[in-house]
Amino acid sequence: MSDYKNIWVFIETAKGEAKNVGLELLNEGKRLAQVKQEKVVAVIIGNNNEAAAQVAIAYGADQVISIEGEEYLDFNADGYTNVMVQLVEKYLPSTILVGATNNGRDVASRTATRLRTGLTADCTGLDINEDGLVAWTRPAFGGNLMATILCPATKPQIGTIRPGVFKKAEPDASRTVEIIKEEIKTPVEMIRTKIVDTIKAVGDLGVKLEEAEVIVSGGRGLEKPENFALLQELADVLGGTVGASRVAVDAGWVPVQKQVGQTGKTVGPKIYIAVGISGAVQHLVGMSSSDTIIAINMDPDAPIFDIADYGLVGDLFEIIPVLIEEFKKL
Ligand code: FAD
Repeated sequence: MSDYKNIWVFIETAKGEAKNVGLELLNEGKRLAQVKQEKVVAVIIGNNNEAAAQVAIAYGADQVISIEGEEYLDFNADGYTNVMVQLVEKYLPSTILVGATNNGRDVASRTATRLRTGLTADCTGLDINEDGLVAWTRPAFGGNLMATILCPATKPQIGTIRPGVFKKAEPDASRTVEIIKEEIKTPVEMIRTKIVDTIKAVGDLGVKLEEAEVIVSGGRGLEKPENFALLQELADVLGGTVGASRVAVDAGWVPVQKQVGQTGKTVGPKIYIAVGISGAVQHLVGMSSSDTIIAINMDPDAPIFDIADYGLVGDLFEIIPVLIEEFKKL
């Protein structure tokens, strides 16, 4: 592994703006890089990367590698993979961290295949073991256990990590580091997909779960879709958004984009309020890194209370209206 150095973070962008997951991974990548005595490097592919590069630097990148070209204006797996593979062959990073978004999953898996190396998908925890290898942690067996995966024989080590698992650093706009601009072209005929149009999801889904600072999530205890209006009211008073357990989503009470958990979103808000949610391990895996967890449940033995910082035992239909009124007074 000795030729392979530095931890790369793929900075996903949308219209030139760095997405949160890359900035979260820069912070965690920096921690790992310090243990390995390496650098954390932001890799940005796009058409105009200047703004995203400055943001990546402010959020902790020790170096930026930027590749610009009209063919990279919109994400396309063929072009982005071509760039990643050529960069890896030139610079030999030890590790590549990629957000487990649709685009991140696409480019990471193709890059790993081309390089004939491994990929640990959908991680929720990272560490460095005594041999200097990344220990990738991810849910396994339906979320019933957390598996730690080592890839001793492959290089570089590549993994996708769920958005919201790690926190961003405090930005420091005064930082300046080297920005390496590489010229890598992808012939148009190599790019097999094109973005023709972008259509917004129907309905007002409000603030994105991954970006919300306060999430009020509801589960089976809400009983019917109309009762989610109560949670929406509490979320509005707190400046947050509504989330849900899988039961509530499967019942059609809430859109799937609102699902928190193993097969939904991973979130890490400042405040997570779990209402009428029992605390199944598949739900916990998506929200346990929240700063403060408040649980409201009529069953004092509900497992959600094991990880809650504050617990209210009682009927949610009595408790939520009181909370709304009290928070309104603040
Ligand atoms: P329940 O477990 O039925 O809990 C309802 C709770 O509401 C109970 O604790 C009850 O005491 C309380 N309650 C009822 N009435 C009231 C009231 N009036 N006031 C206060 N409390 C009340 N689940 C997810 O959430 N996200 C996932 O991503 C996910 N992925 C999964 C993936 C796999 C492979 C599998 C097998 C399962 C997955 N699940 C997921 C499902 C998970 O196992 C649970 O079934 C689900 O989380 C339970 O949802 P719940 O807490 O809303 O319902």
